[in-house]
Amino acid sequence: MTKLLGLIGGMSWESTQLYCRYLNALAQQKLGGRHAAKFIVYSVDFGEIGALQQAGDWAGAARILCDAAQRLERAGADELLLCTNTMHIVASDIQASVSIPLLHIADATAQHIVRHGLKKVGLLATRYTMEGHFYKDRMQEQHGLTVLTPSPQDRAQINTIIYDELCAGKVLPRSHRVFQEICGRLIDQGAEGIIMGCTEVGLLLKEGDVQVPLFDSARLHVDEAVRPCP
Ligand code: GLU
Repeated sequence: MTKLLGLIGGMSWESTQLYCRYLNALAQQKLGGRHAAKFIVYSVDFGEIGALQQAGDWAGAARILCDAAQRLERAGADELLLCTNTMHIVASDIQASVSIPLLHIADATAQHIVRHGLKKVGLLATRYTMEGHFYKDRMQEQHGLTVLTPSPQDRAQINTIIYDELCAGKVLPRSHRVFQEICGRLIDQGAEGIIMGCTEVGLLLKEGDVQVPLFDSARLHVDEAVRPCP
């Protein structure tokens, strides 16, 4: 038996597809046979969420995501996954709106890095995640990790690649090189590993593309969620 997972997806739907694939592949790998994951997806309209992000209206975005969370709870979900790092800005609002647990993506990622024995990691993510406190501070304060972020110019490039390309399903060789170069600069600053702290980055970067371990937040989020329950 596994839990019925409730996915708040659509941010973007490109990464929600990855979640669906990872969930089923991992459930089969962990449980064997013809097993697959049990989950319900509520896919939001990212056009609406994106407009609220740009306006800085996080309360408005939280209202949409809390509504999605409540619908998933009413539909019988045992646990929630919010399939984006960025929107964890409003994770505490979502958690407060339901009585089932929300599995925080930063905790799932950080716990894995700590088990790996690393202390200092670089972060590739949207500008909201790289520049805000909600993610880095949680990793630092709750998991003891030092999180390095790229320079302002590099952050701007990453953000553009995420929103204009990856969220639209465009995977360009030039952007792959840009990500590798930025990772190289983080490694020069002492990063022992790199957090792929945006759920679309797995479309572009793969293990072995850089000289240190890569930690894909989407995969680690799924890995934490798929476990047998009594
Ligand atoms: N999926 C992305 C993330 O993990 C970015 C899209 C969003 O703004 O939610 O942060």
